Amino acid sequence: FLADKAAPIFVAGHQGLVGSAITRRLQALGFTNLLLLPHSALDLTCQADVDAFFSVHRPHFVFLAAAKVGGILANSTYPADFIAVNLLIQTNVILSAHKFGTKKLLFLGSSCIYPKFAPQPIPESALLTAPLEPTNEWYAVAKIAGIKTCQAFRLQHGFDAISAMPTNLYGPRDNFHPDNSHVLPALIRRFHEAKVAQAKEVVVWGSGSPLREFLHVDDLADAVVFLMENYSGLEHVNVGSGKEVSIKELAEMVKEVVGFEGELVWDRSKPDGTPRKLMDSSKLAGMGWEPKISLRDGLEETYKWYVENMVKQQ
Ligand code: GDP
Repeated sequence: FLADKAAPIFVAGHQGLVGSAITRRLQALGFTNLLLLPHSALDLTCQADVDAFFSVHRPHFVFLAAAKVGGILANSTYPADFIAVNLLIQTNVILSAHKFGTKKLLFLGSSCIYPKFAPQPIPESALLTAPLEPTNEWYAVAKIAGIKTCQAFRLQHGFDAISAMPTNLYGPRDNFHPDNSHVLPALIRRFHEAKVAQAKEVVVWGSGSPLREFLHVDDLADAVVFLMENYSGLEHVNVGSGKEVSIKELAEMVKEVVGFEGELVWDRSKPDGTPRKLMDSSKLAGMGWEPKISLRDGLEETYKWYVENMVKQQ
């Protein structure tokens, strides 16, 4: 993969958090023939359009980072979209890639594919061993089907399709919505707005004790390029940082990075969610890959991006 910098490469979902990071990484590595189409130019839910695109452009490599994503609220409001749109996008892209001679495809999922009560840290082998978390099962079932589609095409047709499952990601282009986003971008925004308003306190949800693992999206992009180059196995691969922080530690760190001087107030009426969510990324570590961006550095960079792109654009 890395040897042919002129090979046509399709990054599906290049405007999203993950796809844009993969695109930046490929550009930095000197790839010259990236096929990047906005939604308006190619509807990935339409098999005929996806087939037509592949028949003309014949990408040698495909990064499948296009998906309908969202938090707990979006999942419970639009379950039909979360299952059907994701099944359509991934099935169309995988089938067309196979049909039109793509050499290798990498499919991206998420840690929500694992059972609600999986062992911690969660190994790849925990997949399909127990019931899912019901709030996002629509999305999770589609992502599990994507892993299985890649496996089935490898088994039946020898198609080189692999899957990577990232932990909680953050970075530029994250969703900074005040209520619907995940904890890290939510806190960046809340602390920033409190600093600007010279507020005395910032409210953080829950008790602060849950443990979470975070990975900068640029580290994920580095890992998927590594997997494209080095991995052709049947099983999906976890991609995490291996480092846990409590929500309290995270909130203190965001407070410092943003430069907010007031107090933290814990709103215990808000749910803590699962007490711990950590992936077992030892399989990837065993192949020789490790993350490079510390949470502190990643937070500083993400805060800078937020100020330059979300605040100044308003
Ligand atoms: P989860 O990892 O699926 O539970 O997703 P979240 O990122 O939404 O929440 C992680 C943890 O952060 C939970 O314990 C939340 O209660 C806590 N948390 C604290 N403040 C916030 C906030 O402002 N927004 C969100 N989403 N979570 C928060």
